[in-house]
Order: sequence, then structure tokens, then C-alpha cells
Amino acid sequence: AAAVAGRIHVAAQLPGWEHLASGKVRELYRPAPGSAWDGDDVVLMVATDRISAYDHVLTTPIPDKGRVLTQLSLWWFEKLAAAGIPHHIISTEVPEPVAGRAVICRNLEMVEAECIARGYLTGSGLAEYTAHGTVTGIRLPEGLRDGSRLDEPIFTPSSKAAQGGHDENISFAELSTRVGAERAQALREATLRVYTLAEGLCREAGVILADTKLEFGLDAEGSLVLADEVLTPDSSRFWPAEQWEPGRPQPSFDKQFVRDWLTSPESGWSRSADVAPPPLPAEVVEATRERYLDAYQRLTGRRLPATATGAT
Ligand code: ATP
Ligand code: MG
Repeated sequence: AAAVAGRIHVAAQLPGWEHLASGKVRELYRPAPGSAWDGDDVVLMVATDRISAYDHVLTTPIPDKGRVLTQLSLWWFEKLAAAGIPHHIISTEVPEPVAGRAVICRNLEMVEAECIARGYLTGSGLAEYTAHGTVTGIRLPEGLRDGSRLDEPIFTPSSKAAQGGHDENISFAELSTRVGAERAQALREATLRVYTLAEGLCREAGVILADTKLEFGLDAEGSLVLADEVLTPDSSRFWPAEQWEPGRPQPSFDKQFVRDWLTSPESGWSRSADVAPPPLPAEVVEATRERYLDAYQRLTGRRLPATATGAT
């Protein structure tokens, strides 16, 4: 079991698997010696119900969040595979305690960059644009506002910060220096391809895919494989299309409730103070849970099947 100091919902013991690493939201395991998967270069990736905001992992879990992230990613991986984009999933037959929120995937050498595509301007992209007229060095036309649609989607990579760190936007030139020019090119192409495909499917569901963050890994042959989670509310900004109105922050299917509550006077917490955020009130938990379930339902057209098990 993982013993991460000060962290809740730490990894459970899973038969056949040995704990390898803890991320903010996920736990990674490798096959235990003598287990069914022993000898295969795979990892078990478990999505917990943990939620992070402002670079903190909160102490309050959001029930069903791990299942939503896992099931939504699987839905997308299938769509993307049908379009010829290879992914890391091998099996969804996982130990019972993590059923529905874990996958067995190829153990990849992860590319040390977050691959972000933006079709709309907001967040850190808007901040850089406001200050310099650019996003990761890409110059954009004047007069854009919060939520404006870009003429064409742009690739805006960021550095993968170490534990507790803050990701930083980097230029394409900087990415090329870090991973090599050819690989940077391939990452840009693959990222924009995924965005364009997904943006179209979202649009059909009445959802705007404002931006999304992808992670790629390299297989044994050195080929790029789409990994991690994809096109979830944690990795993407989804906006209900019917409410889109540039010039203000857009309502979104994600942790906006959590962020809004944390920064409200009610929470008593300050973003600038270096202290852990307080537990979330039940209403904020429930509203956030519903947002995640809504996103799943709206995008896939399916309801998430109910299960009885709690969160690890
Ligand atoms: P960090 O790695 O900085 O903790 P995070 O907090 O976003 O990032 P999680 O999403 O909680 O991390 O955990 C998932 C981890 O698993 C990430 O480090 C991700 O890069 C890694 N990962 C995803 N897919 C694979 C794969 N196929 N092989 C190896 N590692 C993977
Ligand atoms: Mg992650």
C-alpha cells in the first residue's frame, strides 16, 4: 500500500499487483511476482475519487469521479482508435475493489510534456494573451476575449511539473529542445488531430471542447501512444454550447463549483496562503459529482451504471 504522507485515500492492497506510484488523482501498480500479468510490461492505473484544485489535492473525495474519468476515457479511446490513433489500454479486467475505475495499460516511457490543444481562449492561455498577445509564443489576432473561438486550434505545450509543482506553458521551440524537433512535430500533429476529432464529436453532443490536455508515451519501438486519461472534465474544458458567450468566464462541466467555493469568503481559505484547503461542504460535493456525471451522460449518451463500492 502507498503511504504518501498527508494524503487521503491512499492506495489499497490489490491482489496480484504491487503499488508503484501515486499521482494527484491516480495510483499506479505493477504486476506482482507470480501474478497473471507477471512478465508483461503493463501497469494497472486506478482512478480514485480524489479531486485537485489550485495545485492541492483536497481532503474530500467526489463519489463516482474515478469511475466517470475511467469510463469516459475508455469511450474516447475507442472512438480515437477507430480513427487510427493508438492508445495504451490493454484490458479492463481489473481486481474487484477497483472495478470500473481502473485499466490495465501498456507501461510506456512517458513524454515529459503535457500536450495541450486549444480551440478557444481562456485560462492560462488568456492570461498570456492579455499580457503579451500570444499563447506559448503563438501570436493571436487582437480583440479576443475570455471564451473567444480561435480561427484554428493551436498546440500549446506545457512542462510537466514535479509533485506539488505548477505546470508552465512552454513554446514549441522549447518543447523541441526538450524532446527533439521531430518528436515535437509528431506531438503537435497527434494532439491537434485528437482535438479536431473530439471537438467535432463534442459539438454533436452540444458541448464545446474549449481545450484539452493529452499525455503521450513511447512504446518499446519508440512510437507515440496516447496514454493517461483523455477528454475528461479533469483534462479538458467542456462548455455547454447553448450557454457560450465570449467576454465572460463560461459555465463548464468540471470542478468550477469547487474552485468557486474555495475562493469564496465562505471557505475561509486563501489561494495565496501556503495552507491546505478546508474540507468541502456536502452541497459542493454533490453539485460537483452531478457535473461529472452530466458530462459523461451528455458526451456518451449513456448513463453511468450504478455500483455499490466506495472509493479507494
Ligand atoms: P503526476 O505524474 O505529476 O503526479 P498527475 O498528478 O496528473 O501527474 P495522475 O493523473 O494522478 O498524475 O497519475 C497518472 C500518472 O500515470 C501520471 O504520472 C501519468 O503520466 C502516468 N501514466 C499514464 N499512463 C501511463 C502509461 N501508459 N504508462 C506509464 N505511466 C502512465
Ligand atoms: Mg493526471
